[in-house]
Amino acid sequence: MTTLLPFNTEFDTFFAKGWRQPVSVKDLAEAGLRCTGSDEVVCDFCRAQLSGWKAGDVPLKRHIKLVSSCEFAKHKRKGKKRKRRSKGLQFDSKPAASNDDSDSDTETEDEILTSEFNRLMTFQDWPLSSPVDKYDLAATGFYCVSPSSNIVRCYACKVEVEDWNLGDRPKKKHQVLKATCPHLRGDENAENVPLGPFEKRQAVNISNHK
Ligand SMILES: [Zn+2]
Ligand SMILES: [Zn+2]
Repeated sequence: MTTLLPFNTEFDTFFAKGWRQPVSVKDLAEAGLRCTGSDEVVCDFCRAQLSGWKAGDVPLKRHIKLVSSCEFAKHKRKGKKRKRRSKGLQFDSKPAASNDDSDSDTETEDEILTSEFNRLMTFQDWPLSSPVDKYDLAATGFYCVSPSSNIVRCYACKVEVEDWNLGDRPKKKHQVLKATCPHLRGDENAENVPLGPFEKRQAVNISNHK
């Protein structure tokens, strides 16, 4: 079967430049950052240049931190905050925000992990010999709690699984352990951001070049 790869010039630059950083090309583009090298991006509005990416980095956050006056980044952040407020997003592990507005642009780990791509990136050292596939784990809400461990946790219901056996299906196991999980029920408060076609291509690219 031939799969038509998605085509989009903006994203294609990332692939053309050999981008293999564990940060979503979609999130980078949304934060106004254009690829100029294998790990370098630039903002065409404020000329900010960023490099040295690691899993869990939030492009918009780093952009604002570097050039807090960038109009593009400020506009984006406002849109994000509005969206979050209107949904009343509140994870239970998040301490009650006293002053919700001014400085609350720091994403909590939970929010970062609502992205399937970011969850997938926590599995970079996941053994190939594992009976379960990292794509299946990330798709059903799991992330790996630390690179050296085999414990996975669901970002939405926090259930943890350590032992996987041959024939296990991550989604099935998740359902057995926590049928009420907001992610499994497709609850919009779970805020899941599924893996987009470009991110999938990016993830495969990263795995192939390890
Ligand atoms: Zn900028
Ligand atoms: Zn769950």
